[in-house]
Amino acid sequence: MEEARYDLVLRGGRVATAAGCCEADIAISGEVIVALGRDLPAGRSELDVRGRIVTPGGVDPHCHIEQLAASGLRNADTFETATRAALAGGTTTVIPFAAQHVGMSLAEVVADYHARARRGAMADYAFHLILADPRPEVLREELPALAREGHGSLKLFMTYDRLRVDDEQLLDVLWTARGLGLMVCVHAENHGMIRFMGRRLVEAGYTAPRYHVPSHPRLGEAEAIGRLAALSALVDQPVMVFHVSTREGVAAVQRARGEGVKMFAETCTQYLLLTSEALDRPGIEGAMWICSPPLREPADREALWWGLEIGALQCVSSDHAPYRMDASGKLARGPEPSFREIANGMPGIELRLPLLFDAMVSRGRLGLERFVELTATAPARIYDLFPKKGTIAPGADADLVVWDAQRSVRIEQGPRYDNAGYTPYAGFEIRGFPELVLRRGEVVAENGVVLAQPGSGRFLPRGGGQAARPRGLPAPEFDPARNFGARLEPR
Ligand SMILES: [Zn+2]
Repeated sequence: MEEARYDLVLRGGRVATAAGCCEADIAISGEVIVALGRDLPAGRSELDVRGRIVTPGGVDPHCHIEQLAASGLRNADTFETATRAALAGGTTTVIPFAAQHVGMSLAEVVADYHARARRGAMADYAFHLILADPRPEVLREELPALAREGHGSLKLFMTYDRLRVDDEQLLDVLWTARGLGLMVCVHAENHGMIRFMGRRLVEAGYTAPRYHVPSHPRLGEAEAIGRLAALSALVDQPVMVFHVSTREGVAAVQRARGEGVKMFAETCTQYLLLTSEALDRPGIEGAMWICSPPLREPADREALWWGLEIGALQCVSSDHAPYRMDASGKLARGPEPSFREIANGMPGIELRLPLLFDAMVSRGRLGLERFVELTATAPARIYDLFPKKGTIAPGADADLVVWDAQRSVRIEQGPRYDNAGYTPYAGFEIRGFPELVLRRGEVVAENGVVLAQPGSGRFLPRGGGQAARPRGLPAPEFDPARNFGARLEPR
């Protein structure tokens, strides 16, 4: 008998990519897809996936894992628990953060997160480097070395007392990123507005979780996005606006893009599926839904869906930021904290894909190809993981999700694979769930049972993706005449 040509063949599935769907066999050798077509020769193993939809493994480009907050609080997940949850829900690649705080060496921070991920990660991973303290030696010495090691993106905050950078610092980072070909992701909200509203609300006795919503004024998102657009335009450096939450925010992004600013933007599962009503529960329960920016109104949800429809927003992340409803997390400042004392964030790394599959595929909003694009292909392209990640094609890593599109699941309240201990989506009835998840050719989850070993995830070195200048060009010099159109000759 002829020797099998492939290690594994997934036979007869409906293969979905951002570019279209077709019925095809997928052949895998080692860790990569080597052929796609009908009636492919036999593999050493075969999986019959007729009647199933096969998508690329999800790429979650914004999730907080084992991250230390400026307050000293570490979030509830380790790399092991968070990436186990990711695999259970079909996400095979994650981009969490290596978070610098003021005074820290960025290189040491990155080494620490590397060590944690090497120990626990089950999904493949890269890091966005959070710069809370972009002092000259960090920008001049540490960052170029880290870029050479394959770190392709940075994250900055325009708000939060101990994380934010001012406009001048932001420009210094954008300029440095331009020279190194890095993408810069930004939490864009107006710091002064948040401080002003938060202080006044608490002084007036409005301390319940629900007042977190007005404490982050919608105007503050649009203002910060508009300001970021101007800063980005001044130095001609691409930026990614994280977690757009409001109608005005979508409009600000769309305006900037229309004016030629190199601005990308994402939203997150929770802003597409939940509203601020979730925070109206009695007592402290609403704390489960405190995240930043806050959940907004039904009209915002519609505007975000429309923003995805027209391409103003290019991807959907989870912004997974798990804190337990106890003294280790949301209630670290006491059993009855004001909304300002409650850790911001909610879990979502596991259910991002199933929830969006239900909304986009089962319920038909945007459809299967856009689902793949928004949750895998576009993030892979934007963050320079494509075509290794984010698509189904010969040469790509064999990261695949086999969906049972008919399976109905009711999401119950209680712990899931992550360590938050609750889900913000209890009561949702969704149709479609991952049946099999493959990471680099290996079955890592089967019907919700995760089979991967901690530490089997792999670091993904990368450049700056769509942000990158053509490789090999020298970093730009600061030259007012050439770069900024100033009518003067450098002397
Ligand atoms: Zn975040």
